[in-house]
Amino acid sequence: MKPLEKYLTPALFVSHGSPLNAIAQNAYTADLNNIGDSLKNVSAILVISAHWETNGISVTNSENISTYHDFGGFPQELFDVEYPAKGALYLIPEVEKLIAEPINKDATRGLDHGAWSMLKHLFPKADIPILQLSLDRRKSFAEHYELAKKLIPLREQNVLILLSGNLTHNISNADFRNIDAKPVDWALEFDETIKNAFLKNEVDTLVNIETVSNVFRMNHPSNDHYLPLLYLMGLKSSEDKVTFPHMSWQHATLSMRHILLN
Ligand code: ZN
Repeated sequence: MKPLEKYLTPALFVSHGSPLNAIAQNAYTADLNNIGDSLKNVSAILVISAHWETNGISVTNSENISTYHDFGGFPQELFDVEYPAKGALYLIPEVEKLIAEPINKDATRGLDHGAWSMLKHLFPKADIPILQLSLDRRKSFAEHYELAKKLIPLREQNVLILLSGNLTHNISNADFRNIDAKPVDWALEFDETIKNAFLKNEVDTLVNIETVSNVFRMNHPSNDHYLPLLYLMGLKSSEDKVTFPHMSWQHATLSMRHILLN
């Protein structure tokens, strides 16, 4: 008799774009609302965002996790946003056991905007406890991918793993005067490469992207917004269906595609 498959909580990659998406109300944010509504029985959230890179791995370690406004030059309305979630501190020993390397517990660090600008639309009540794990900037792409695989057991414990980056993320060529600007060819090409890598389960494409795609650096001048994609790939099980619960373009160079595994 075939053993019963374990239920795996979905894993979600979101493209967060500009911090202003936190206070927008449009088709992009409506889709985030709908995705959040579709995710039932989530008992905790482990979030990994492009905006927290450290030497070694750190985890947030506060009972009441603060909202970190990690940007400048935006309207006061954005600085007024708070996402008053509880810390999922009970998960820390489990995460430590799974990762099996030293983890720095940071009691002062709050959620960065890559995390809270998305959580605000996904789970507006802020009633699910959250832990944020940093990105270890010393790891290679392959090492990030391997680390993510160690986190799969959390999906069997009703933990939603939320990865926040951007499918494409070239800021210097972005047209910030026009959110609806026509996407550039090299961003379209890269978005297609990553979409297909997930649909065809091409792990090597993601891990070796620097040699596979000659438009990688154009789309990701730095690695930070790409790394969360490696985690989503590492978390993928053979049972997972890949869907794209939102796709649009912002400012010509930012693919706002989300990827859901369920
Ligand atoms: Zn960002």
